[in-house]
Amino acid sequence: MAECIFCKIARNEVPAKEVYRSDRIVAIEDLNPQAPVHLLVMPVEHRETLWEAIRSDGEDKLVAGLFETAARLGTERGGAQGFRLVVNTGPDGGQTVGHVHVHVLAGRAMAWPPG
Ligand code: 5GP
Ligand code: ZN
Repeated sequence: MAECIFCKIARNEVPAKEVYRSDRIVAIEDLNPQAPVHLLVMPVEHRETLWEAIRSDGEDKLVAGLFETAARLGTERGGAQGFRLVVNTGPDGGQTVGHVHVHVLAGRAMAWPPG
């Protein structure tokens, strides 16, 4: 997966503003933020979509770890006002980077329905 931008970020080959790292999960600030807080939580190991991550999930509970990290960061950054988690999946879902990531959005009131 030499071409994947998020793999490169996870391996520290491309710079990013990192806000969290463990041996299997990295969280960074989005390059093009859509809210005052806009973070991306992703696995270090390449998984293309949420389904691929679910299918390959094992005892390390990677998918639960992604959502736990995202919820914790959302709570820390969004405070009592809350936060939104989004996982765009596939073309209709609006996924533009094929390395699964959870968006953490906070710092303003979110609209519904999303665009
Ligand atoms: P998607 O559209 O796949 O759900 O989300 C991809 C997100 O990654 C977008 O919000 C986009 O701004 C962000 N993004 C794309 N390339 C980079 C990059 O090189 N660095 C960072 N920090 N964010 C990126
Ligand atoms: Zn990747």
